[in-house]
Amino acid sequence: MIKTEKILHLKSCRGRKVRVVREHYLREQVPCFSSLCQADCDNADGKVLPGDLTHYVVPDVGVVVDYLEILEFRELQGVVFTQTACQAVQHSKGRRQYNRLRNLLKDPRHDCVLFANEFQEYSYCPREKGESQEKWQTRCVYSAAVWYYNHLAGMMDVVMITEDQDAVAQYSSLNSGVYVISVQDYLQDFWSQVQAAHELYSSISQALQEKESEGTEREFTEHLPAEVLEAGIKSGRYIQGTLNVSKHQHSEASIMTEGLSNKNKDLSWGVLVCGGKNRNRAVHGDVVVVELLPKSEWRGKDTALTEAQGEEKSGEEADSKPMPTGRVVGILQRNWRDFVVTFPPREGPQPQSRNSQRILAVPWDRRIPKIRISTQQADALQDHRVVVRIDSWESTSQYPNGHSVRVLGRAGELETEVQTILIENCIHVPPFSDAQLREMPVNSPERPWRMDPAQVAERRDLRESHLVFSIDPRGCEDVDDTLSVRSLTGGELELGVHIADVTHFVPEGSLTDLEARSRATTYYLADRRYDMLPAVLSADLCSLLGGVDRYAMSVLWELDAQTLEVRNVWYGRTLIRSSYQLHYELAQALLNAEQAEVPELAGLGSEEKDAKLAELTQALEMLTHVARHLRAQRDRGGALELEGVEVRAQLDEERNITALVPRLPLEVHETVAECMIYANHWVARKIQEAFPHQALLRRHPPPRQEFFSQLVDSAAARGFTIDTRTNKALAESLDRALDPQDPLVNRLLRIMATTAMSQALYFSTGLQSQDQYYHYGLALDRYTHFTSPIRRYADIVVHRLLTAAISMDTRADPGRALANNKELEELAHHINTKNWASQRAQKLSTELFQCLYFKERDPESDPRCVADAVIYAIRDNGVLVFVSEYGVKGPVYLRNREGQVVAAGRDGRCEWQSGSVRRHADHITTVSSCGTSTFTLFDHITIRISVRSTSCHADSLNLEVISNKPHRSAEPQQPSSQGRCQLVQEVVRLAEEASQQAQEKAARRPKLSREEREFSQSKTPNLYSLLEEIRELALLDLDMAAHVCATTA
Ligand SMILES: [Zn+2]
Repeated sequence: MIKTEKILHLKSCRGRKVRVVREHYLREQVPCFSSLCQADCDNADGKVLPGDLTHYVVPDVGVVVDYLEILEFRELQGVVFTQTACQAVQHSKGRRQYNRLRNLLKDPRHDCVLFANEFQEYSYCPREKGESQEKWQTRCVYSAAVWYYNHLAGMMDVVMITEDQDAVAQYSSLNSGVYVISVQDYLQDFWSQVQAAHELYSSISQALQEKESEGTEREFTEHLPAEVLEAGIKSGRYIQGTLNVSKHQHSEASIMTEGLSNKNKDLSWGVLVCGGKNRNRAVHGDVVVVELLPKSEWRGKDTALTEAQGEEKSGEEADSKPMPTGRVVGILQRNWRDFVVTFPPREGPQPQSRNSQRILAVPWDRRIPKIRISTQQADALQDHRVVVRIDSWESTSQYPNGHSVRVLGRAGELETEVQTILIENCIHVPPFSDAQLREMPVNSPERPWRMDPAQVAERRDLRESHLVFSIDPRGCEDVDDTLSVRSLTGGELELGVHIADVTHFVPEGSLTDLEARSRATTYYLADRRYDMLPAVLSADLCSLLGGVDRYAMSVLWELDAQTLEVRNVWYGRTLIRSSYQLHYELAQALLNAEQAEVPELAGLGSEEKDAKLAELTQALEMLTHVARHLRAQRDRGGALELEGVEVRAQLDEERNITALVPRLPLEVHETVAECMIYANHWVARKIQEAFPHQALLRRHPPPRQEFFSQLVDSAAARGFTIDTRTNKALAESLDRALDPQDPLVNRLLRIMATTAMSQALYFSTGLQSQDQYYHYGLALDRYTHFTSPIRRYADIVVHRLLTAAISMDTRADPGRALANNKELEELAHHINTKNWASQRAQKLSTELFQCLYFKERDPESDPRCVADAVIYAIRDNGVLVFVSEYGVKGPVYLRNREGQVVAAGRDGRCEWQSGSVRRHADHITTVSSCGTSTFTLFDHITIRISVRSTSCHADSLNLEVISNKPHRSAEPQQPSSQGRCQLVQEVVRLAEEASQQAQEKAARRPKLSREEREFSQSKTPNLYSLLEEIRELALLDLDMAAHVCATTA
């Protein structure tokens, strides 16, 4: 090893240049991470570049700093990042960009490696006197490229890419086999087919040119240096928090102050930041530092009714009393993501310029400021949605600068809008790659999948001993849970829950595992779903179908025959063969001793058939008996029954929805759900006891009491008392709040209760004290997710934990090391984030379909645009209503911008008149020349639905009162939510027609019909999981619950 000195020129936080001398050690052996290595490099820990490429590419420092996004394309293979370039990113681009690079290097899906060129004796070059930093860095990178070529004995050509034209001239002909070319030439020569990379390149280079020609006039105050911010936070002068821009009032933002609320009661509702100057270039989601303004400048939040205000928590509707108000003095961390923007329509004749134009693109998310983009496509992309990234926001610029990444399509088209929703929620679901699919087991008619004899020897075989069956919605394909129940010889009962053994097929760290982990869940939109796992697992080998051998993870309880107390629990891997794939109605019919045809018994003689039928019915009865007992146990603990599912889609053999049937309250739903909750609970106990500091559980914190104020006040208006002190009290008082005249009242109260709830969360047991493990909604001391590993990554983690816990019991080696508390907590955070994203995306896609549906209709003449609505909250200038027919919630204004108010005539018909409006606790009145009109909580009114269209944002529904009397439609009242499902079908059909007309390409057709098939595919999620999640309050919104059911149950 050779010791030398290395001189670094660093920039201090204040911008001063510092010269640092470091000792530097050079080695002969530095891993090259190439499979062609001839020199026995230690390439063991890390990815290895394949040897069958045409070349390796070594990007220069400037390329890595400015064009990293291009190097992120998975198509680009054999990328060697030099240490020199990585350090430059760290110094000039900050932590976020550096982490991005590190993640790229770690991700096995990307074919790139890190070469520590500055530690390699023959690759390192010391900086020469008078040499600029940039020139020296370029020389280092070139030297690394040459080293690679030589190290691999000339077997692999090496291309260095640089934006420095001098370097191209200087180095391109120095060594044969080592080429030096510009990024543009490189893309042209090697990746001409990757069009997106070319577009991204020109977009970034335009943005860079633009940056150089920026003005100098200051629009904002400079941010303070990091050390000043840090000292200020410590001393209490400044406050740190995440900037949250108001959804309804975009000039208003607040700072969520983590952990500060205890110290300073004033700040428990956060700090208000009003206006652009005070926000000082902070963007929604950034971690910022604020300074409080003097008390005289404090302000209150705006509380007037604005668009789409239906879903806020009641606690947020604080009165407008002044609260701490401040200004942003610095930004600790930018949280810029990919933003969808719309290129604005261009007004008037445009100069015919070939050069790029600067345009202000309007983000789809109203909380994000306009972004300035330089582009040559400003005209071509009018009214298109485009993905952009923000590059910088200088104090001299009124808007942030960004560059476009890719074009999604014309605004308003279904596919464009669906992609927009995915990107806006950071949901990335590319098709599974070939490499991922190669990991999958094969199951084809030629090569049918068979159980491995080693597995058969290892697992407990339940195929002969246990009657296993599944109960799912009709037409279900992916069965991830099955049940068994039997009497043991000693008289005890044995209950069994058997779950698809996904982790057997998905080893930790495999490509499939990494993809599933990054998705974290299967995503359900109104018309389609994106699976977490490839179909060969989710619909075939992991699916516990009837009549085939499958691997399972089982929990078996031995219960006292009389008291049903648990005597013993067994957890382990098993072999099962499900005998019956029942659907809910069939199972219930058997229980009710009704005439029912069980398909599995169709071919049998009547005697054998009767015997088998009796056996099955007896098992179902036993199961019901056990589940009733379990439910009663939880009820005593205070489990909540919240607003649930109302309708269910019935599917034909093609899996098309043929009818929507109001949900019959089948007890068997509850029976299945109860068994799954029980299994989740017992697995939670098992893994928590085995790994007290590193088990993944799910907790549901009790709600904040102030969020219940709307529920309590609204109920009081109808004469009901809601006791929110405990979950038990709440559950009981909700049960009592029944209006015999109007069942919707109870339903609305339950919606309000659900809205007031906190979200359930995954967490690592090491992070919380045990009293925090409680699941409020289910009234259980420990809970986790174990029963749906096909569609939730949390369950996969839990299966691995359970497997490790079982091996510990048998003193066997627990296998690979488990994630520690910190890693697990990070994973839990990731899964929670993805779950929320998935819920938001689902909700947005429902709203999208609602808007597309109503966009087709004329609100003035189409009777479907008129509906009955119930008032569920009162605001200053209007009311919030719920339209049960379409599952829509939203505001109805009683005073418009012109100051006119809604006046109801004697027949109830409403019109706009000049007048005034007055808000009371449980009603609101308008006074005009026609007299006084009153709108009271829980009143039914008639509304007209139309679409409010804006080209730059999502469309929204506009609800307008046309009569203050209930609506009676000419047709018999449809079951609620029926309109919703028709609506999805209708919109899909229209979009399909439109796309067929637009392009008669044959390729388009199968794609849509596949989606159509998926959209009506059943069981995903199954009704059980719906019930469970609604119970669990993971789904906070009734819309969503009804919607998921209508489209997938
Ligand atoms: Zn090597």
